[in-house]
Amino acid sequence: MLVLGLIEIIQIILITNTMSIKRVWVEEDCISCGSCESICPEVFEVIDISEVKQGVVFADFDAGIRDAADNCPVSVIKFEE
Ligand code: SF4
Repeated sequence: MLVLGLIEIIQIILITNTMSIKRVWVEEDCISCGSCESICPEVFEVIDISEVKQGVVFADFDAGIRDAADNCPVSVIKFEE
């Protein structure tokens, strides 16, 4: 049986919170390829150029944001943890 103490639970919460994405933005030179919107449409919208949607809880789409950033052909998707 797994029993966690209070200190272990606090450590897990702190680690989880510090690893989540807090801010996302798209720098200049987006080429409007649409990749980010295809990968993570909950966060990115490409009309003229890619934009980050307002009101998104980035921590809920952590994997998608990282995947979109990794696959951006011009590396203009940035995020802060
Ligand atoms: S993947 Fe990069 S280049 Fe393509 S639309 Fe998104 S931000 Fe722009």
